Amino acid sequence: MSCITCNSSNSTTPTPTMKDFSSKNIFTWCTNCGNYGIHTALRRALVSKKIPACQTLTCFDIGCNGNGSDKIGGYNFHGLHGRVIPLAVGAKMANRKITVIALGGDGGTLGEGIGHLVHGIRGNYNITFVLHNNLNYGLTKGQASPTSKKDMKMNSSPDGATSELLHPAKFVLSLESTFVARSFSGDVKHMTKVFEQALDHQGFSFVEIMQACPTYNKETPHEWYMDRVYDAESVEGFDNSNREQALKIADDQEEKIAVGVLYQDKNSVPQIDRQPNRNGSIGQKIETEAFEETRQYDISKLLEKFK
Ligand code: SF4
Ligand code: MG
Repeated sequence: MSCITCNSSNSTTPTPTMKDFSSKNIFTWCTNCGNYGIHTALRRALVSKKIPACQTLTCFDIGCNGNGSDKIGGYNFHGLHGRVIPLAVGAKMANRKITVIALGGDGGTLGEGIGHLVHGIRGNYNITFVLHNNLNYGLTKGQASPTSKKDMKMNSSPDGATSELLHPAKFVLSLESTFVARSFSGDVKHMTKVFEQALDHQGFSFVEIMQACPTYNKETPHEWYMDRVYDAESVEGFDNSNREQALKIADDQEEKIAVGVLYQDKNSVPQIDRQPNRNGSIGQKIETEAFEETRQYDISKLLEKFK
């Protein structure tokens, strides 16, 4: 296969290595931040799935996660707060052959950007979305976010957060999601496995990473998660194609926390393949990518009419 990005005439695409997804830029995250593990796992998953860096686009939201935008190889886009999903969706719709990953925090995704999350899932756009859920707005110094626990003492609410939290997995499972997974930032091996499954999925893959933020969230460090997580696969009779079971197993975020692929619709059809002109159900099937179909039009004559 020739390179879809550079149109190289090489007969084979290069086998990716961890180095391809590395960067010379210096990491600026705090010591022991969960972001280090998330980036390592994502790189490992891309390499193990043999996805070349030149065919990978990672899109970043504003936030501590976004400070990783120049620390990973391949193509990158660092967008506005809460807007990472439409950016990623647009890129994928323009060229379905590239692998598109979007990363966002709990504040941007479940606060400002929650509408984009809902419609990304509704449309079942074929991207992998990684929620960095550290239960606070870390970049702006530890304010309560939509996933902060009620009564949690944060910098914006020293007497404790007064709103109920939004439960990411249950919220996403309540929509017509086709892939919902959960892992935590202290287990690179487990995150890698979950990312691999998310990259394989045809449709919108939602992956929540319960992320340690040792600087501003003292309540749930890695040790807290390590004492509580268990693999959903280890539960006898658990069937992750059953949404009701997934909702039930996802519920507990406090005592015994299930991780792994909680729900997957194996018959998922991504957005682009639902479109009649693309899937050939009407007329001739369009095989080209949208970016190849764009043209430059001279509209000067048209504009003259309005002078
Ligand atoms: Fe990581 Fe928290 Fe520091 Fe942000 S504030 S870099 S999330 S530890
Ligand atoms: Mg956050």
